[in-house]
Order: sequence, then C-alpha cells, then structure tokens
Amino acid sequence: MEKTTEPISQQVETYLPSIYSLTLEQLQAWMVEQGEKPFRAVQVYEWLYEKRVTSFAEMTNLPKSLREKLTEQFTITTLKTLVQQTSKDGTMKFLFELHDGYSIETVLMRHDYGNSICVTTQVGCRIGCTFCASTLGGLKRHLEAGEIVAQVVKVQKALDEQNERVDSIVVMGIGEPFDNYGELIKFLKIINHPKGLHIGARHITVSTSGIIPKIYQFAEEGMQINFAISLHAPTTELRTKLMPINKAYPLPKLMEAVRYYIEKTGRRVTFEYGLFGGVNDQIEHAEQLADLLKGLKCHVNLIPVNYVPERNYVRTPREQIFAFERALKKHGINVTIRREQGHDIDAACGQLRAKERKEETR
Ligand code: SAH
Repeated sequence: MEKTTEPISQQVETYLPSIYSLTLEQLQAWMVEQGEKPFRAVQVYEWLYEKRVTSFAEMTNLPKSLREKLTEQFTITTLKTLVQQTSKDGTMKFLFELHDGYSIETVLMRHDYGNSICVTTQVGCRIGCTFCASTLGGLKRHLEAGEIVAQVVKVQKALDEQNERVDSIVVMGIGEPFDNYGELIKFLKIINHPKGLHIGARHITVSTSGIIPKIYQFAEEGMQINFAISLHAPTTELRTKLMPINKAYPLPKLMEAVRYYIEKTGRRVTFEYGLFGGVNDQIEHAEQLADLLKGLKCHVNLIPVNYVPERNYVRTPREQIFAFERALKKHGINVTIRREQGHDIDAACGQLRAKERKEETR
C-alpha cells in the first residue's frame, strides 16, 4: 500500500527520509558505513535522476541485500501529486502533498529558451512582505532538500511524457530560500551534479528578500548560480513600508552586501522591482532607482503587481510601466519587464500560497 494513502497519523509514524535529500558525497559515505563500495552511490544516483525510477526494487544492478537496506532506511519521493493544472499559455501548476499533510505549489513555465520550474523552499513564509500571498499564513516549516529536489523530479517526469526536459530552475516559489539556507545549498548541489539532474548553475536562479548575512555566505559558495534580490523600492523608507524585513536588514546595508557579492563572484545580479500602483511606480522612483544602482553590474526586472485578493495593491497602467522602463534605460540601466504567465491558474509571481491541509484535515 502506498504510504501517502494512509491516514496522516500513520504517515508520520512510518516516515522515512527521502533519498533525494542526500548529496552524492553523503550517499557515498552511507554506502561505506554499510560496508558497500562508494560506486554504488553513483549507480543509485543514475537510477534516481537519469532513469527516474520510483522504487529501490527497480535498481536491478544493485545486490538484493543493498536494495533491501535502502528500502528499510529511505523512501524515494515523499511528494504526492494532488492537482496538476495547465494554463492556456502552457504554464503548469502542481499541488503536492508532503508526508505530514501540508501541501506546496510548483510551477512549470514555458519560454522560448526552454522549460523553467519555479520551486518552493518552505511551507509558508515568515518574511511578511505586504504584497505577497505566500506569507499570509506565516511559516509552517522548512522543506528538506529532498522535498525541493522531488519537485524537480516530479515535474521532469511529467515532461518525460512529452519528451521534453527541465532546462532551468528559479528558486522563486513559496518561502524565503535564505531562511532555509542549509537545505537550499544541498538542493543546489544535488540538481547541479553531473550524476544528479545536471542542471547547469547558470540555468539556476536563487532569489532572496535580502537576508544580509546569508548573502555574504552565498558569495563564498563558489557556485556560478544566478542571483536575484527582491528590491521593490529605491529608498529605505519606502522599502520598509513594502517589506518589513528592511527594518532588520536596511537598504544601505543590503546594497553593501550586494556590492561585496558582485566583487567576490564577478557575477551580475538581478534586482526584482515589483510595480505597485501609486506606491513605487512614479518616474521619480525610477530616477532614485537609477541613482541607487549607478555603476553596479546588474539588471532590473520589473514585475507588474499580481493580484492577491487579501492585498490592496493595484496595477500600474501599461503606459506608465513603459515610461518607468524608459527612465531607467536613459540612465544606462539594463531592464526588462517580466512576462506574465499562468494568470488564469494563479501561478504568477506572489500568487502561490501554502495550503494548510494538515490543519484542515485534523
Ligand atoms: N522569497 C524570495 C523568493 C520569492 S521570488 C524573495 O522574496 O525573493 C518571487 C518574487 O515575486 C519576489 O521578488 C517577490 O517579492 C515578488 N512578488 C511577491 N508577491 C508579488 C505580487 N503580488 N506581485 C508581483 N510580485 C510579487
């Protein structure tokens, strides 16, 4: 019987960790502890990420005793697909149930340059941005690395049916990735590994609301990953109004950290700037923003606000969005306007919400 169909109370008791949480090095160490050869870990990785099997029994080149040990100690995926929706524009939204009854959302976007997945890192979020749906119920728990990896594998398996692959990943779903730093880094290593899903670092983007100490730490990881900051305001006063995290990590200190990051990694950063009607979308704000970013190796991504029923923000008129863009360009700032996808299935930026099924079902 599949574990996920059992009542929640039993699921918790029988919960085994997901093998997707292990980096190749960790799996090699586990093999050695079991008296096995480290190359067995590579074989397991091939089954998990190239052949994408769903049971240890299928790993036919492993000795039976090893397959049994793996079955006793690990599960493969702990995610169960509850809903899979496709938007008119091809965007797909997945609702997955976790082993403890919580559920999370993952989005697959179709671009000219390929398929991109937006993954979730936490059940809920505790950052409290005033425009975002993901933070409405607070933080329930962090995801384990394997629960983030499993989102990618599950979506890849759906794409396998269409002979397509996941080309890139954005860590921009529910949650603040830097608030779950250790699991995030493990996830990045697993999906980037040539024996894992082998998604190139340059095809992975991590976005943060600005947890400054973690920006310094991330700069030292030596990964060629794209890095984005949710800026949303050109002054510290305005940023505090939109994002309470700016009180703990104020804009001037954030910019210092970003400068350090650029210097250390030599990489360009992206600033996400949501346009919230009448709040931060005037030409004067564009001028202040250009001033703030002058000389920085960066790119600005303008995101027209997405409707969240509980929030009062309104859209900036199209013409004004273009005027804002032009004002930045005039100052030599690289800028693009984010194309919106999956609107009809609430899959757009900031619209994802952790469904609290655990409480509902108890
Ligand atoms: N917690 C991370 C990852 C989220 S990325 C972060 O804050 O960076 C998703 C992006 O969408 C962030 O830039 C976020 O600020 C933005 N966003 C959230 N709600 C939005 C909304 N209603 N409209 C437009 N953008 C929104």
